[in-house]
Amino acid sequence: MRPELPSEFRAPSVELSVVSPMFNEETNVRPFVRAVVDVLDPTGIDYEIILVDDGSRDGTWQAIAEAARTNPRVRGLSLSRNFGHQGALLAGMCHARGRAVVTMDGDLQHPPALVPELVAAWREGYKVVNTRRFDSTDTSWFKRASSRWFYRLFSRVSGVTMEAGASDFRLLDRMPLQALISMGDADLFVRGIVSWLGFKTKTIPYQAQPRFSGVPKFTLKKMLRFSTGALLSFSAVPLKLGILIGFVTSGFAFLELCYIGFAYLTGRTVQGWASLMTVMSFMFGVLFILLGIVGTYLGKIYEIVKNRPRFVIGEAVGFERSAADRELLPKGSAQLRESVYGA
Ligand code: UDP
Ligand code: MG
Repeated sequence: MRPELPSEFRAPSVELSVVSPMFNEETNVRPFVRAVVDVLDPTGIDYEIILVDDGSRDGTWQAIAEAARTNPRVRGLSLSRNFGHQGALLAGMCHARGRAVVTMDGDLQHPPALVPELVAAWREGYKVVNTRRFDSTDTSWFKRASSRWFYRLFSRVSGVTMEAGASDFRLLDRMPLQALISMGDADLFVRGIVSWLGFKTKTIPYQAQPRFSGVPKFTLKKMLRFSTGALLSFSAVPLKLGILIGFVTSGFAFLELCYIGFAYLTGRTVQGWASLMTVMSFMFGVLFILLGIVGTYLGKIYEIVKNRPRFVIGEAVGFERSAADRELLPKGSAQLRESVYGA
C-alpha cells in the first residue's frame, strides 16, 4: 500500500471537488477559477477547487495562493518538483474531500460548462462519467493521429478498451476514486486504471476548446515517456515477444541445419562468412532488444519495491482551515506535515 493516504475510507465533506494540475500556467489560474466559479455558483452545489502546482517555474504558485486567499473554496498544493501530469492529478485526488471529484486541465481546454452535466449523470447513478473529445481544428494532425494509434495499440496489448480522444477530464464517485488512489502502479496511468476498474460508466462527448493562454506542456519526450509507461504498466505482451522471436529463429536455424547436412552429403562446400556474420549480428541485435525490454520491466518492479511516494508536497494553502484536512497528508511524514500546515 502506498504511503500517500491513510487506508481507511475518508469521509467526504463537500459534494464536489474540482481538481486541476497546473504546470507553468500563471496566466490561466485566474481565468480558470473564474470560469469554474461562474458555472458552479448558480447551481448551488457545495464544491471546492483544488489546484495543484506541478513544480512550475513561473508565477503559478503565487497565482494559486492568491486565489486561495480571496476565495475560500480554492485550495492549493505545490509539489516539490515537476512530477508530471499524472502525479499532479493523483496529488489533487488524494486531497479532495468531495463525494465526487472532477479532474480537468487548467488551460480551459476542458470546458467548465460541462461540469454540471457530469454532475447530473453522477446523480443519475453513474459512478464514472468520462468525456470524449471531438477534436478542435486547433489540435495538430500529429497529436490526433498519434493518439488514435496509441489507443488502438494499447487496447490490443492490454485487453483494456480505450477510445481515442480519451483524456483526464472526468467525474469519479468516491468509490472508484478511493480504489484508484490505493492502486500501487509505479507509473500511474489514470485513464487505463479507470477503465480497468469498471463501475457504471457514462461517456459524454464535448468539443475541445483552444488553450486559453500559454503553450502546451506535453513535449514529445513527455508524451513518449507517458505512453511507454502506460503500456508497460498494463501489458506483459512485450515480455512474451522473446518467445515468438525465439520460435521463428529456431525454425530458421533448423532449416539451415538441414541445408548444411544436405551440402555435406552431396560434397558441396559450405561457404559464406558474410551471411554467417549477418545472421549473428542480427540475432545479437534481437537479443539485446529483448534484454532491454526485460530490463525495463525490472526497472518498474524496482520502483514499486522501493515504494516511493508518487508525489511530494512542498507547500499547501487553504488546508489549514480544518483539523481533519491535516489528516490528509501522508501519515509517515509528521515533519513534512508540520512544515506544511504548522504543528
Ligand atoms: N501539466 C502538468 N504537469 C506536466 C505537464 C502538464 O501538471 O508536467 C498540466 C498542464 O498545466 C495542463 C494539463 O496538465 O493543465 C494538460 O497539459 P497541456 O495543456 O500541456 O496538454 P495538452 O492539452 O496538450 O494535452
Ligand atoms: Mg491543454
